[in-house]
Amino acid sequence: MLNQLTISELTKKLAQREVSARETMQSCLDQIAKVDGKIHAFISHDAADALQQADAADKELTAGVKKPLLGVPIAIKDVIAVKDQPLNCGSKILGKFISPYNATVIEKLKDAGAIIFGRLNMDEFAMGSSTENSAFGVTRNPWDTTRIPGGSSGGSAAAVSADECIASLGTDTGGSIRQPAALCGCVGMKPTYGRVSRYGLVAFASSLDQVGPFTKDVRDSALMLSAISGHDVKDSTSIPHPVPNYAAALNGNVKGLKLGLAKEYMVGGLDPQVSAALQAAVKQYEKLGAEIVEISLPHTEYAVATYYIVATAEASANLARFDGIRYCDRVPGNDPIELYSKTRGHGFGPEVKRRIILGTYVLSSGYYDAYYLRAQKVRTLIRRDFLNAFEKVDAILTPTSPTAAFKIGEKTGDPLQMYLSDIFTISCNLAGICGISFQGGFTENPKLPIGLQLLGKPFGEETMLKLAHAYEQSTAWHKEKPTI
Ligand code: GLN
Repeated sequence: MLNQLTISELTKKLAQREVSARETMQSCLDQIAKVDGKIHAFISHDAADALQQADAADKELTAGVKKPLLGVPIAIKDVIAVKDQPLNCGSKILGKFISPYNATVIEKLKDAGAIIFGRLNMDEFAMGSSTENSAFGVTRNPWDTTRIPGGSSGGSAAAVSADECIASLGTDTGGSIRQPAALCGCVGMKPTYGRVSRYGLVAFASSLDQVGPFTKDVRDSALMLSAISGHDVKDSTSIPHPVPNYAAALNGNVKGLKLGLAKEYMVGGLDPQVSAALQAAVKQYEKLGAEIVEISLPHTEYAVATYYIVATAEASANLARFDGIRYCDRVPGNDPIELYSKTRGHGFGPEVKRRIILGTYVLSSGYYDAYYLRAQKVRTLIRRDFLNAFEKVDAILTPTSPTAAFKIGEKTGDPLQMYLSDIFTISCNLAGICGISFQGGFTENPKLPIGLQLLGKPFGEETMLKLAHAYEQSTAWHKEKPTI
């Protein structure tokens, strides 16, 4: 079925006019009609607009126009602005807000010929690890609908895994691309900070946020990264670093590359089946000719605490704009303060309120030095740990998440337990490096995907992708599909 194809398979068939963009788009829409009632990956989608874009792509394809993603249906997390589409960030506070412009990543995907459709469910303002914090209801894991898909980009992961689209975009502030990709059995990448423009992304924690792709295999991840990367005058944190053809690096040859294993990552809460998948990958990499090197990331134990100070501090400032004056479903008050507090009190969900309160506290005078400033210093030490490790190794191999997908409701009562599930993903954002999650096998009884993570040097995406691809191609995990 066309909706199951990868980007590289589909673009070949489209270019040869073996299939049309309309047929492909229609098969994604049919799949949504068939399974999204169970999965709820999409908050909304405009089928007529998607088919219109597909027809335009077909015209170009027939005329022989060559673009890397021409006619490929790509769905978008509800935190990235798409002109004339709703933008809710998984929250009810924005009401009926319609985005007046495209994010730079959307412009780039459109320039590459992609069909942009649908708004994918997420934890409110990207705060969460399970997509249970959405004002639009939970998204379910396609491998087991009693379980969470991960978060915050749970809709983006579930939609790709359930073949409701060919690829999707998500965002990753502390693991929100890699962790749901791992739990849903697809590939998710967080690019190096500054690799991809954040213009048109609703900010959560600006020093950590990056946009990245969800795909069905590693080659597609490389294709998407080449399409969305690059310097943008509208985002001063984007870096004018050349954009390689990432897919060209995927030659399967990893001989002599050095892969680090961090002793601090072999923690107590690691599920034995996840640990076994990691060990199996280590053996496989050795067979492929890579060299395994033990490394140390000594400040790992402070990463979760540091992240939840830095991220909440930045969130409390960024979310101040949702005040009921310029945006939001306004709840009237007798004076501006009452209007603000009623609008925000009514519009934000409990996790967002918790973070704003925590973030405001760590920034307040008297506590700033003890919490925020100290967290910034520890953040520098965490980054230094990685830069030291990268003097010895080309990339670092870790599990993506300590466990496979947990049950819906299992951790909602205990925010700290939820935060601890981010242990392997958040250091990457604090350090500003790149990371990718790819399939490393399945648990038994129940059968659930296990994700492995590679962390790469700043702007080391080519090597990281090459390593992930070599492992993927030496296994068959990525070919398995959930039965929905
Ligand atoms: N789970 C983390 C959090 O709740 C990461 C979120 C993200 O990457 N957007 O903050």
